[in-house]
Amino acid sequence: MITADKYYKERFGHKMYKAAISLDVTCPNRDGTCGVGGCAFCSEGGSGEFATSGSMSVTKQIDEAIGRLASKVSADTGYIAYFQSFTSTYCAENYLRASLLEACEHPGVEAISVATRPDCLPEGTLDVLEQIARKIPLFVELGLQTSSDEVADGFGRGYPTIVYDEAVGALKARGINVITHIILGLPGESPDMMLGSVRHAVEAGTDGLKLTCLYILKGTRYEALYKEGEIAVLGREEYFDIVERILMDVPSDMVIHRLTGDGPKRLLIAPMWTSDKRQVVNYINRRFRDIL
Ligand code: SF4
Repeated sequence: MITADKYYKERFGHKMYKAAISLDVTCPNRDGTCGVGGCAFCSEGGSGEFATSGSMSVTKQIDEAIGRLASKVSADTGYIAYFQSFTSTYCAENYLRASLLEACEHPGVEAISVATRPDCLPEGTLDVLEQIARKIPLFVELGLQTSSDEVADGFGRGYPTIVYDEAVGALKARGINVITHIILGLPGESPDMMLGSVRHAVEAGTDGLKLTCLYILKGTRYEALYKEGEIAVLGREEYFDIVERILMDVPSDMVIHRLTGDGPKRLLIAPMWTSDKRQVVNYINRRFRDIL
């Protein structure tokens, strides 16, 4: 495995930070196309709590995101325009093209990352992404979460895993770098099944992985189930035991973009160990110092 930090330094010559932005889109799992109410873990912000409002121009959102990061980063830093919220390709091709081109033209932006669902990549959208990938390094982030259709049905993902497999194939055929999101700790999954999801993504051809533990957030369907004791979350050691198995298992060129995330504090109900980012980072550095 290779860390994203190392990968970015090798590819871009310096550290890269993500400037999170939103498009004016929703998600087919919310508007009734393949479901309503969204995935059971997803908050009202559509997994984009750190992004700004989709009603602002892309340029202004990037300016604001870079402005917020500027005091924390060195001068020798590059930015990835990260289209994060909801399903970024769930929109008209012209709107997507114009938005991505606007990000391309921003002087601070050296790459673009687009988070989406694998069932929202029709041919026309793939064409747009391919055009953009010819201009600037492009990453497409797919929310697989699990390779088990049964577990996915449990949280209401709204598409079978084969759709993910086909999407990875279509993106790779167009030379686009794919990052797969996987959640560890979904109800009904054993550690072996979580490792199985990672192996599935690797076999499908993903270039990178983003791992996160299941968070229980306010206002989600999982909130009620958690409070009723129907579902549980992973403890810190338990979570990183699974992460360690994954890191030992993935191919040496697999880019690990994230070992865990930090849920939005104002919405986080559990697990609370994820809320202290500094402690989590210290723990990761101690535990994985020989691997990372
Ligand atoms: S996690 Fe993604 S696909 Fe699921 S409801 Fe939220 S925005 Fe939609």
